[in-house]
Amino acid sequence: MSLAYFNGRFVPLEEAVVPVEERGHQFGDGVYEYMRFYDGKGFMLEEHLDRFYRSAELIRLNAGISRAELLAVMSELLERSGLRHADIYMQLTRGIAPRNHPFPDAPASLSMTVKPSRKVDPELRKQGASVLLHPDERWMNCHIKSLNLLPNVLAKQAAVDAGCFEAVLIREDGYITEGSSSNMYLVKDGAIRTAPLSNRILPGIRREAVRRIALEAGIPFIEEPFTPAELLDADEAFLTSTGIEIIPVVQLHGQGPIGSGAPGGTVRELHRLFLEKTSLPASV
Ligand code: PMP
Repeated sequence: MSLAYFNGRFVPLEEAVVPVEERGHQFGDGVYEYMRFYDGKGFMLEEHLDRFYRSAELIRLNAGISRAELLAVMSELLERSGLRHADIYMQLTRGIAPRNHPFPDAPASLSMTVKPSRKVDPELRKQGASVLLHPDERWMNCHIKSLNLLPNVLAKQAAVDAGCFEAVLIREDGYITEGSSSNMYLVKDGAIRTAPLSNRILPGIRREAVRRIALEAGIPFIEEPFTPAELLDADEAFLTSTGIEIIPVVQLHGQGPIGSGAPGGTVRELHRLFLEKTSLPASV
């Protein structure tokens, strides 16, 4: 059963509401996390929580809840839901207060939802995805997992309108940063390449998983940005995120195929190694 949590109360998802004068609702003034549980075990949970607290700190938001308390809420949510393969979203906002831009004197609000893990269409995994290039119109703090996702939403919709799975964002200097809700990679001559960690991208937890897997498998993992021309010249490409795990990218919309135009061996192998990891405890 899907469930929600809001400031100390567990409620059925359909009945969960937040007050109108909630900073998340009125200003997008908050941060969030999205975590996946495989057979009841959170994948790289510590890394997700590190990012959660780091994002909160970067927007000067005091979470007002310890790691152990957060984990306890998540455990209870999972237990009450009865779900084993589950996705948990959690949002932390600057609380409930009369609408006014300066920080309010109010405790942070914490909300969560738990739902069955979102499935990826197996055909997409088999055939590979098309992506649309889209200007990266976001602010310069993309390393913060902020609730403000308007540029991401607009980019994703442009991709959907073009019949593509994802929008790949490109800054004015001509370099690709990441997807609208994913990290982006190419594979060339046996090496993986992706944008370096900076204020231009979200430090994806699946990105970190892929980096560790590549290290173990002896696949070079090069943290350098790339251009659309380099993407078109690549042997393979892929996207990662908590929801999609690893998805091959085979087509740059309006510009042509990437590699052979079909999913390649490196991406398949990375996904196989990733799935192996999901049966292990967190932080492996
Ligand atoms: N970049 C952006 C902009 C995202 O929204 C996401 C998904 N949260 C990612 C990258 C991937 O991050 P993760 O692997 O932690 O899901």
